[in-house]
Amino acid sequence: MIIQSGKVVQLGYVLKDSDGEILDESDAQRPFAYLHGAHQIVPGLENALEGLKPGDKKNVTVEPKEGYGELDPKLKLVVKRRQFDASVQLEPGMQFEGDHGMVFVIEKLEGENVHIDGNHPLAGETLHFAVEVLQIRDATEEEKTHGHSHGPGGAHDHEH
Ligand code: ZN
Repeated sequence: MIIQSGKVVQLGYVLKDSDGEILDESDAQRPFAYLHGAHQIVPGLENALEGLKPGDKKNVTVEPKEGYGELDPKLKLVVKRRQFDASVQLEPGMQFEGDHGMVFVIEKLEGENVHIDGNHPLAGETLHFAVEVLQIRDATEEEKTHGHSHGPGGAHDHEH
């Protein structure tokens, strides 16, 4: 079986940024699973995995436009302290969900001004993946309908 649309793929991987710092990893004990062709993972990685088979290893470099996007300066905003719940102690690094489900992070506080950044934390990063294909299986009809993988064997393990 090879990786193609409609297959659930289990991966071991190490993700590093351009400085060689490990951002994320997964291995045979805690494999990462996804539904191929459902855009569950960044396009640059999904495209590079197409056609691989179990046991295959591959190093994949993903540019920002094929990863989490370029940094968008328009998503860096300055808002007022009073726009937040007064009972919340604001601190740099805190995450909030804004309108339309957009997630942003507080960058810094400056008097009444709150600097926020709505870019994905990995926007603008070139991603370096070292990937090993552990297992491939057919997706269940339910997984295809949902557009994502479920637990081992396709068991439904989450709420919708
Ligand atoms: Zn589901």
